[in-house]
Amino acid sequence: MNFHVLTLFPEMIENGMGTSITGRAIEKGALSVNAVNIRDYAFNKHQSVDDYPYGGGAGMLMQAEPVYLAWESIAKNIPGGHPRTVYLTPQGKTFDQAAARELAREENLILLCGHYEGIDERVLEEIVTDSISIGDYVLTGGELAAMVVMDAVSRMVPGVLGNEDSADTESFSAGLLEYPQYSRPQVWHGKEVPEVLMSGHHGNVDAWRREQSIIRTVERRPDLLKTADLTNKEWNFVRQLKKKLKEEQQAGEDEQE
Ligand code: SAM
Repeated sequence: MNFHVLTLFPEMIENGMGTSITGRAIEKGALSVNAVNIRDYAFNKHQSVDDYPYGGGAGMLMQAEPVYLAWESIAKNIPGGHPRTVYLTPQGKTFDQAAARELAREENLILLCGHYEGIDERVLEEIVTDSISIGDYVLTGGELAAMVVMDAVSRMVPGVLGNEDSADTESFSAGLLEYPQYSRPQVWHGKEVPEVLMSGHHGNVDAWRREQSIIRTVERRPDLLKTADLTNKEWNFVRQLKKKLKEEQQAGEDEQE
């Protein structure tokens, strides 16, 4: 996977992505991250890339031409027509694990980071194929959002994670949150690791983990269950859990009155 990031702050991208798991994946050649400084494509001697918005209003806007030239410098070297170009924007579709999985199929991905009040709409119309938001809040720039997207996408790219299985069992992969996990010591602050995990019986461990995933999802993110692939027995279990939760909630409310 080759990420090409159009940004005014390439060092932010290089430092962020060059660290830990993604950094090692870059060293191994499983990923490449090319941060392109939009300022290098400024067409005035002060290298400014922003200007006042027509019609007035607060703040400055990134101009179309430097963004277009920076994009073109990358796009022309990617074979196969108009390359997938993601604009990070609070106005985009909210990013999730399914979107990460889908983007991971691309060989090249261009990510465009805005700054100031955003970017001249005309260049967005010409180059952007996908608009992605990382949540309903406004950041000062698209760099953190681009790193969130690249990090999540990278984990789906073969060779990035040490253990290729781990992305399959993680939260959201099958409409369920991941089960709780424990490491040494066996007892910490008086709390013991669940006995089944010490049993060495893989079948029982898998069954316990599956059950815990379902319990966790019902308690914390019941909305995810609509995409979960459960057996009839598991759906019955979900119904029992929901009933129990409702009763507990009701009992808590009665106690408060
Ligand atoms: N004026 C814009 C608006 O109201 O839609 C917000 C501009 S924001 C201050 C500057 C840049 O930060 C945006 O161009 C975008 O690239 C990035 N950004 C801000 N919030 C974001 C979010 N929730 N998700 C993705 N990118 C975001």
